[in-house]
Amino acid sequence: PGSVFEEENQGECIAEYTEPHGVDIRIEMLNKSFGDLHVLKDIDLEIRAGETFSIIGPSGTGKSVLLKHIVKLVKPDSGRILIDGHDIFAKKPKDAPREYRYSMVFQTSALFNSLTVGENVGLWLREKRICNEARIRRIIRQKLRLVGLEGKEDFMTSELSGGMKKRVAIARSLAMNPDLILYDEPTAELDPVTSDELARVIMDLKKEVNLTSIIVSHDLNFAFYLSDRVAMIHEGRIIEIGTPAELKASENPVVKNFIFTTTK
Ligand code: ADP
Ligand code: MG
Repeated sequence: PGSVFEEENQGECIAEYTEPHGVDIRIEMLNKSFGDLHVLKDIDLEIRAGETFSIIGPSGTGKSVLLKHIVKLVKPDSGRILIDGHDIFAKKPKDAPREYRYSMVFQTSALFNSLTVGENVGLWLREKRICNEARIRRIIRQKLRLVGLEGKEDFMTSELSGGMKKRVAIARSLAMNPDLILYDEPTAELDPVTSDELARVIMDLKKEVNLTSIIVSHDLNFAFYLSDRVAMIHEGRIIEIGTPAELKASENPVVKNFIFTTTK
């Protein structure tokens, strides 16, 4: 890290716009139902600071719902989620985590097609008046460089390929200096070659930015390639967790079958 942010942190931005620091996340005995549908069952999971962690499994199995809990879009029926040891649903503010920033990259990139690439990346910075204009321009350039789109500020977003749009969406998320970034099915609309490129972009980010990454995907090639560890969810339960190599060597018949039927 360091070098990337040195330039940014010489004033001209609000004090809260600090360097990211990867957070650790602990999920303890989380349960969630929608009506009669028990979606998440006794989820126990620890994601370490700075880790790239994937959640895989068939569709309809609770992956997106789990992700939504981590960003407080959904509340658990029971269990806890701790960020750096603090309960994110704590009733008393003093028990809640210190300020941390998170950003979600959605399946559809959700960019403004009528804006340029640079305008999309700078939207939040300008709206919240995070920095002065000269500094915002430098930050945009730096975030685009991190996703391999250096110098593409003035491109029209509508003219980009799906893979490039996804990278702009990541750069836009990075503009917040998030401590935690979450990707929900990032390769859903991409072909295999573009998915491989995206995997490399996400992996390379780690070398320069101190953040924790969580990826939800049913694309096992993608998840295995870029993850430090992977958890497989099946029917709302974590049935296997480990490094990609450990998952590939799993003796669990459900895991074996899922890997066999979904990898190339
Ligand atoms: P996936 O693993 O494909 O991401 P989801 O987490 O989106 O699966 O959904 C898991 C199950 O929970 C599905 O059966 C889905 O229909 C159901 N579900 C998700 N969100 C809601 C909701 N807000 N209300 C009711 N049911 C929901
Ligand atoms: Mg989903």
